[in-house]
Amino acid sequence: MDGSIAPVGDDAGCHGGRGRLMDAARAAGKSVAMDKLMADYPRGPHDQPQSMCPAFGSLRVGLRMKRVATILSGSACCVYGLTFTSHFYGAKRTVGYVPFNSESLVKGQLYEDIRNAVYETAKPADYDAVVVINLCVPTASGVPLDLLPKQIDGVRIIGIDVPGFGVPTHAEAKDVLTGAMLKYARTEAEAGPVARPKVLQELPTVAMIGEMFPADPPAVGAMLAPMGLALAPVLPCREWRDLYAALDCEVAAAIHPFYTASVREFRNAGRPIVGSAPVGMDGTAAWLDAIGKAANVPQAKIDAAKASVLPAIRAALDANPIKARITLSGYEGSELLVARLLMEAGADIPYVGTACPRTEWSDADRIWLEARGTHVQYRASLEQDQAAMEDVRPDLAIGTTPLVQKAKELGIPALYYTNMVSARPLFGPAGAGALAAIVAAQTRGAPRFARMVSFFEGVGTGDASGYGWRGKPVEPTGHRERTRKARLAKAKSLEAVGT
Ligand code: SF4
Repeated sequence: MDGSIAPVGDDAGCHGGRGRLMDAARAAGKSVAMDKLMADYPRGPHDQPQSMCPAFGSLRVGLRMKRVATILSGSACCVYGLTFTSHFYGAKRTVGYVPFNSESLVKGQLYEDIRNAVYETAKPADYDAVVVINLCVPTASGVPLDLLPKQIDGVRIIGIDVPGFGVPTHAEAKDVLTGAMLKYARTEAEAGPVARPKVLQELPTVAMIGEMFPADPPAVGAMLAPMGLALAPVLPCREWRDLYAALDCEVAAAIHPFYTASVREFRNAGRPIVGSAPVGMDGTAAWLDAIGKAANVPQAKIDAAKASVLPAIRAALDANPIKARITLSGYEGSELLVARLLMEAGADIPYVGTACPRTEWSDADRIWLEARGTHVQYRASLEQDQAAMEDVRPDLAIGTTPLVQKAKELGIPALYYTNMVSARPLFGPAGAGALAAIVAAQTRGAPRFARMVSFFEGVGTGDASGYGWRGKPVEPTGHRERTRKARLAKAKSLEAVGT
């Protein structure tokens, strides 16, 4: 649990080697874009994605917006995976794709094809914006999306590089596109009048940054009302004009702490930023204090806001106690908040791992957890999460798919973080009561897991892997020797070339 896991080799990852592709991208003229990615999304012990393709984060943000077309430029296999995942998660919009082959890539035709696709798509009757996302190969080859026109007939054009060798998690890729859109919208708002929001708020607003469960924003809006504040559209948002409304806020709340590029745009717009989130008793009290102060709300109103919500949160926590030792890890960026909530309900959490980086916006949560004996691991690798789980042997492991699989092999009850968290409220009294039942149901199942492990002992491992074998498969005679000789002969023939 000290984070001392050996770094994963540079060749790991579906893109085939971060160092090599990073060098290629720089050589192809992408040094500025790569430096920006390196600065915004610092590296950790795992320098390649250990979850889904990071570009999924940007793609998802684009696909969720009305009147925004999202076009991918990348290898067909990557695009297939991204399209499949988008529709698996219920995307209602088409994923655009500009294909390429070696020739069109090498001759620069791919850029021309992208440009043509953008001109064909950018019809003001259909779209407010067209987003083009460079995946690994076009980024490494230097396909210059920055040369695309900034707008066509009033339709904004946004080109971004989101390579797996430059953006560590799909969570941070959401920030790449959100930040790029905010920058565009901020520049428009600074230049002159922009579209008014669908719902014009009379009160000063708070803009929340980070994907939320649908019930959470109204709950936070109710918490803010006694302070005379309202909620701006949540980012990532649903339509272009929401960007103006969010930037027009009094305070921006970095609920998810990894939106570095987005926070930069709020700062450039002169907005104060508040970290952490209204989670549990302590978190909600501290967050309301911080928001109230940043918005210059009188202390009496801040106290009124706290008095209107804290007793209900206390009651919900008391009515839903959690008695379990839990390890928690994920790649969503809300891991520290969830750990705080579980601990306030009574859970013992010795380890929290997040694939996201450490930023100042989660400092309050880290300090709160560490003061209670929790080890917080930023940029946690799967290996670190597994080592912590095996060390702690918790009553429940909450984590990513491979961690949950490992836990089940060990007979430890486990829950998939993304499904558990994104399908439940986190804030206010509803959040305080939402997790207890599922934790209790899973930990009650521990004896069942132990029975399953002993029943399946040895099945599907080692020589017993695969279907249709009754005994250990017999190795064909001489097979290894023939393969060794073939490899030697191939190596020799390669040596001979050019000598
Ligand atoms: S775009 Fe890069 S990280 Fe994503 S699937 Fe393709 S090779 Fe992997």
